[in-house]
Amino acid sequence: MINTSGYAAFKSSGQLAPFEFKRRELKPNDILIEIDFCGVCHSDIHQVKNEWGNAEYPMVPGHEIVGHITKIGTAVKKFSVGDLAGVGCLVDSCRTCSNCQEGFQQFCLNGSVGTYNSLEKDGETRTFGGYSKCIVVDQDFALIIPKNLDLKTVAPLLCAGITTYSPLRHWGVGPGQKVGVVGLGGLGHMAVKFAHSFGAHVTVFTRSENKKADALKLGADEVALTNDPQKVLADHAGKFDFILDTVSAPHDLNLYLQLLKRDGKMVLVGLPEIPPNIEVGNLIFGRKTLAGSLIGGIPETQEMLYYCGVNNIGCDIELIHPSKINVAFERTLNSDVKYRFVLDMKAI
Ligand code: NAP
Ligand code: ZN
Ligand code: ZN
Repeated sequence: MINTSGYAAFKSSGQLAPFEFKRRELKPNDILIEIDFCGVCHSDIHQVKNEWGNAEYPMVPGHEIVGHITKIGTAVKKFSVGDLAGVGCLVDSCRTCSNCQEGFQQFCLNGSVGTYNSLEKDGETRTFGGYSKCIVVDQDFALIIPKNLDLKTVAPLLCAGITTYSPLRHWGVGPGQKVGVVGLGGLGHMAVKFAHSFGAHVTVFTRSENKKADALKLGADEVALTNDPQKVLADHAGKFDFILDTVSAPHDLNLYLQLLKRDGKMVLVGLPEIPPNIEVGNLIFGRKTLAGSLIGGIPETQEMLYYCGVNNIGCDIELIHPSKINVAFERTLNSDVKYRFVLDMKAI
């Protein structure tokens, strides 16, 4: 076993503290990654606080991981010692079901293995995430990182990046389309970058007036303040082809459904702890679609990373010492982050 340390939650209070634990010895297909940076996703907060009801403690969060490989198993061909590698939300799946075979490991019919707060395929070992010094992972679930990007801005691509890239690609967002992004946080700011890069006209819906100038710099063409829903409706009703909702807390979806054109689509990626109320008439009149999307499979995550390398896209981040994680959670809850906290794991 490999000794390591990191930060863990021990109960649902939301507070993390230092934690010593062990990683498995390398199996033939495994690589050992010394973690350089790990992003702080709002899902980490939902999970630590047991807002999705499946928390097990101690829990070491973190699924936006980038680092350097320091050891490889005897069968590893994809990587060499010294290479960069990334790990997102998944570390294993059955690999044989139809979804796995088609590269949609996030929808594994036999249950994929999450990077943390999950059980390995042995049914016994709990997974621990990237708020730690190192991780052992199967090469098939590790991603190749483009060398030209600033590594600390790459970490959040492993979740915030793929979670927004995937639905924008799946629903064919591109030139000539009017796209809305609801919530300008970690996911939202990447949705703006990608939708703009794919050639769409982008409108950001935010409660935060102080993010207006940033939204335009990130690639938005317009910003709508949602504190006045009547004005939002008056200005934008019936105009959108596609809306991506990244909001982490309960809010009124009916407002945004009314902004869609006929056959418009609204996709939810934010996962608040309380289910929404939908007025079905808002879907029926206009034949509108309401859908959801979950991260992305390994092949699409790799595609997204290559796309970011070629187009020089990284995340806008605030780099912090891991000991500041509790402050980072608090500030994320207050929408006070531009636009993703990244933990400097080399500093512990
Ligand atoms: P985040 O950085 O905290 O951003 C969320 C944004 O939502 C905030 O910046 C804020 O934007 C807006 N917001 C927060 N509270 C709100 C409220 N009460 N009413 C209206 N707007 C509110 O979070 P994130 O890391 O981007 O994650 C967002 C959500 O996506 C979380 O629920 C997370 O668990 C989920 N998620 C899902 C997937 C998936 O695969 N589907 C993957 C990763 C994360 P403004 O300040 O602009 O209003
Ligand atoms: Zn995440
Ligand atoms: Zn499967």
